[in-house]
Amino acid sequence: MTNTLYDALFAPLAGRQTVLLKLASGGSISGDAFLRMVARFGHALRAAGVQPGDRVAVQVAKSPEALAVYGATVAAGAVFLPLNTAYTPEEVGYFLGNATPRVFLCDSVRQAALTPVAAQHGARLLTLGVTGGGELAELAAGLPDTLAVAPRGPEDLAAILYTSGTTGRSKGAMLSHDNLLSNARVLADLWRFTDRDVLLHALPIFHTHGLFVASNLSLLTGGSMIFLPGFDTDQAIGLLPQATAMMGVPTFYTRLLDDPRLDRALTGHMRLFISGSAPLLAETHRAFEERTGLRILERYGMTETNMNTSNPYDGERRAGTVGLPLPGVELRIMGEAGEVARGEVGVIEVRGPNVFKGYWQMPEKTREELREDGWFITGDLGTQDADGYVTIVGRAKDLIITGGYNVYPKEVEMLLDEQSGVLESAVIGLPHPDFGEAVFAVLTAQKGVTLDAGAVLAGLRDRLARFKQPKGALVVESLPRNTMGKVQKNLLRAEYAGWFKG
Ligand code: AMP
Repeated sequence: MTNTLYDALFAPLAGRQTVLLKLASGGSISGDAFLRMVARFGHALRAAGVQPGDRVAVQVAKSPEALAVYGATVAAGAVFLPLNTAYTPEEVGYFLGNATPRVFLCDSVRQAALTPVAAQHGARLLTLGVTGGGELAELAAGLPDTLAVAPRGPEDLAAILYTSGTTGRSKGAMLSHDNLLSNARVLADLWRFTDRDVLLHALPIFHTHGLFVASNLSLLTGGSMIFLPGFDTDQAIGLLPQATAMMGVPTFYTRLLDDPRLDRALTGHMRLFISGSAPLLAETHRAFEERTGLRILERYGMTETNMNTSNPYDGERRAGTVGLPLPGVELRIMGEAGEVARGEVGVIEVRGPNVFKGYWQMPEKTREELREDGWFITGDLGTQDADGYVTIVGRAKDLIITGGYNVYPKEVEMLLDEQSGVLESAVIGLPHPDFGEAVFAVLTAQKGVTLDAGAVLAGLRDRLARFKQPKGALVVESLPRNTMGKVQKNLLRAEYAGWFKG
C-alpha cells in the first residue's frame, strides 16, 4: 500500500537508532522510537473512530507527541488540522463547525473549557498532556507499535491549514500529499539539506513554516531537529553550537542581534540561516552579516501555496528581496490590464504543484482567488526585477488610496525607519473626510530615545511626494504582532479609525 507523504517522511524512520528530536530538557528521541509513537497514536485515532478522509483537529502545545499526531493522522489517511494555540474556545468553535473533525485533540489544561465546544460540533474530544500523558496517550499505551498505513495518493488531502484571517473569517486551505511533498523536495534540494543537518526548530507547528517547511524538510532528508517549545534567545544561543541550520521569522533574528553574544565565533560553523513569514528588513539582513559574516537566506510563501520563492543558496542573496521563483513554480505580476512590465508593482500570482486545492467548503472564495487555469492570486503586491528577483511591497489590502493616488506602505516605512531614533514603523490608511483615506504612521522608538512624531515626519518632507507623506503619526510602545511576527495592521486600522474624523 502506498501513502505518498507517509512513505517519504515517516516510513524511512523505521529502525533508525540515531536522534531525530533533541529536546530542551536534554533528552532525545530516536527516529525509530518516534515512528513507534506515530504507530500507537495511529491505532488510537482509529480506535476513536477516525476513518480515511476524516479531519483530525489539534490545538496543543508544541511537543514531540504533537508532531507524532501529525504523522499518525497521515498514516491513518486522515486530514491534519492544526490550530493556533492562542485561539479562544469561541474561535475554536468556528473551526470545529467549519471543518467538522471526527476527533479534536486539546491540551489537558483546556479540557473543561473545550468539552462543550467539541460536543456542540460532534467532535470526539481527547486530551494530550503538555508534558506527556493525556487521554490519547492512555488510549495508545496498550496498542501495537507498528501500523498498516491507509493508502493515500498524491492528490488526496493531507492537511487543512486555516489562514490567519486578518480580513474576515479564516479560510481552510486544503493541501494535498503532493502539495506538501513536492515543495519539501524542491526546498531540500535548493537549500542542500542532508542527513547531517541539525535544524534548530523553535517555530510553532500549527503554521506552514514550522510544520511543513521545517519539519517536513528535516524528516524528508533524514536529519535531526533541536525541537524547542518556542524561541528563547538564551536557549537559542546555548544550542546554536549544536545546530547546522536555523529557520526563523524576522523577530528571531532581531532578538539575536540584540544580544552581544551573537558573533562569528558563535555562528561560524552554521551552514544556513533562513528567514520568512514576514518581511526581513534589509537593515536586519545587513546587521546580521556584519556581526556574523553570514547572509540570511530569505524566502517567501504562504499557507495556501507552501513556498513560492527563495534567495539562492550559492548565488547572491539580496537584502530586501525574497529571491527567485522556486523550480517548478511559475510567478507573474499582474496589473489591471494583465501582466505588468518588469520593475512595476502588481499583484503576485503563482502556479505550480505547491498551490493548494481550494478553500474547504468555500467554493466562492476559492473561485475568487484560484483561477481555473491554476493561477493563485496571492493578494501580495510585489515587483520582479530584470534578474527575476521578487520584492514584496505589502498586502494588496494594505495599499492606501489617498485622494486617488496609490501609496505603498513599505516605501514610506523604509524612509521612516531611516529617521534618527525610529526603531520601526507601520504605515496604514485611515478614513479621512477629504482624501477618502489618509496616510498615517505608527512609530516605535529605539531604546532610550524619546521620539517626536512631528520631527520624524519633517524628515520625510524633501524625500517623498507630498501625497505619500503621512498626515498624522503616533509613537507607541510596540507594534502588535501575531505569533509569526507579522504586524497586525488590521488592529492598528481599527484602533485609530477615528483619528482624522475629528
Ligand atoms: P501565512 O499564510 O500566515 O504564511 O502568511 C503569508 C503571507 O506572509 C504572505 O502572503 C506574505 O504577505 C507574508 N510573507 C511571507 N513571507 C514573507 C517574506 N519573506 N517577506 C514578506 N512577506 C512575507
